[in-house]
Amino acid sequence: MSFEFWWLLGFPLFFILGWLAARIDIKELMSESRGLPMSYFRGLNFLLNEQQDKAIESLLEVAKNDPQTAEIHFALGNLFRRRGEVERAIKMHQNLLDRPDLDKEQRFEALFELGQDYFKAGFLDRAESLFVKLVGTSFEERGFSFLVDIYEQEKDWVKAIEASRRLQYFTEKNKQKNIAHYYCEIATANLKTGDVTSAQKSLGKALKENPLCVRANIALGDIHLDKSEPQTAIDRWRGIERQNPAYLSLVGQRIFDVYNHLGKAKEGYALIKKYLSDYPSYDLMQAVYEANLVCSGVDRAYELVKSEIMKFPTLLTLNKLLETQLVNLEGKQKSDMRLVKNIVDQHVKHLSLYFCDFCGFKAAKFHWHCPACNSWDTYSPRRYEEREGNL
Ligand SMILES: [Zn+2]
Repeated sequence: MSFEFWWLLGFPLFFILGWLAARIDIKELMSESRGLPMSYFRGLNFLLNEQQDKAIESLLEVAKNDPQTAEIHFALGNLFRRRGEVERAIKMHQNLLDRPDLDKEQRFEALFELGQDYFKAGFLDRAESLFVKLVGTSFEERGFSFLVDIYEQEKDWVKAIEASRRLQYFTEKNKQKNIAHYYCEIATANLKTGDVTSAQKSLGKALKENPLCVRANIALGDIHLDKSEPQTAIDRWRGIERQNPAYLSLVGQRIFDVYNHLGKAKEGYALIKKYLSDYPSYDLMQAVYEANLVCSGVDRAYELVKSEIMKFPTLLTLNKLLETQLVNLEGKQKSDMRLVKNIVDQHVKHLSLYFCDFCGFKAAKFHWHCPACNSWDTYSPRRYEEREGNL
């Protein structure tokens, strides 16, 4: 087969065509960029260098020379809000909304931005009314996301449930965990007014929404205990083992107390001892220790802590061991031991805290809703030292 040399002539032709195409693009780009004032590029540059003050200065200059450019006003409004200058952001977005030349999408965008300004300023009612106006628009999903936050802050749990369901529909993200917590919040409010029946119904709805909602089972157990139904209360709390056994540490003490009250201390002790062996945790060890004191006395309780410290050598367990030793000591030995314990106490203070897996906020009390980042179910039922040491 002979080689067709005329093909070689095609290569320079392709090269020339490619060069021409590139020239045309560059020319277009040059003509577009010539249409933009220098202040715009300066502003952009300052933004990229995170020099917000200078960026605002440059963008304001652009806005003054070209008041019709809505995008610059949007950019400035967002910058003001990010810097915490909410009043200026509100003014900027309000002015945009008053402009008759905005198209439909830009008007929705201005409403959405203004809603965020009000939200940041804490004017939740005004923010809510703007986000509600965005239902049925391209900003609907983002609006619902803010509405959920607003209803949570206002503790309007019924509306929070509705908005979460809509958000779930748009984003296909599972919101059932949060919705179950909203039902639990409703139940807490019911209990405050003494409406136990409604509280039980709300907790039932929480479990229907999320069968793994431990919080609902704990609260239902508490209600049954208050209604003098101790066995049902125990059954509820024991159900947590099927939901998430790590949370048994939150109810170990309650379970033993009720067994003890029923005159079945040994049965209760055996149960929580099994929990401790299957799902070791500091809180369960503490509960078993207390149960040991009731069932077998100080010496057995001391032996238990000693064996636990061999398995899990933590400062928290060591501190418990010192506490048990203090009981049997007297005189100078006791005061020396107290001195040692005081020093260990200082060190274990922060180790005994619960903490949020999401933002790391630590608290002495276990929370279902993080007070720092407002996330649900991000607190581990285990203490900081246990989590850090992966025990
Ligand atoms: Zn958090």
